[in-house]
Amino acid sequence: EVTDVGGTMHRVYDNFKMIHPDFVFTLDDDLAAEAKVKIRQDHMEQILIILADNAVKYSLERYEIHFALSKTANRVEIGVQDFGEGLKPEDAKHVFDRFYRVDKARSRAKGGTGLGLSIAQRLVEAYGGEIALESAEGSGSIFTVYLPLYIEGKNEVN
Ligand code: ATP
Repeated sequence: EVTDVGGTMHRVYDNFKMIHPDFVFTLDDDLAAEAKVKIRQDHMEQILIILADNAVKYSLERYEIHFALSKTANRVEIGVQDFGEGLKPEDAKHVFDRFYRVDKARSRAKGGTGLGLSIAQRLVEAYGGEIALESAEGSGSIFTVYLPLYIEGKNEVN
C-alpha cells in the first residue's frame, strides 16, 4: 500500500487541533509534490498519533506542537516537536525500550504504559525507516521519522 504521507499528516493535525483546543498546532509542509511512502495508511497514522499524543502529554507550560514534513531525493522526514519537559540524555537512550518510562510516578499520573514509542519504532523499522530523537531537558523534544520515498517504477521490488 502506498500512502500520501502529507495527507495523513494533515488529517492527524486536524484531529489533534479539534481534540486539544488549548494547544497551538502548526504544520510546516515543505513538500513541492506529494510524498508517497510504501506503508499502510493506518500504520502511518498510528506512528503520528503516538508521537503527537506524547507531545501533548509531556508539554508543561508552552502548549505548542509543531509538525513538519520535508523530503530529500530518497526519503521523507516527518517531525513532531514539543516545547515540554524534554529528556535527559540517559533517558533519551531508553525511550524506545518497551515499558520504559522516565518518571514512574508522574508518568503513571499521565496514564501511559511505556509501549507507545517502542511500537512506533517497530512500525517505522518494519518499513525500512528510522526514528530519531533530539531533546534537551526543560526545553522540549523533536522526534523525527525517516521513511524511504516511494518512487514509481523504482521501488517495485518489495
Ligand atoms: P504510552 O504507552 O501510553 O504512550 P508512555 O507515554 O509512557 O505511554 P512511550 O510513548 O513509550 O510511553 O514513552 C516512553 C517514555 O518516554 C514516557 O513515559 C516519557 O517519559 C518519555 N517521553 C515520550 N515522549 C516524550 C516527549 N515528547 N517529551 C518528553 N518525554 C517523552
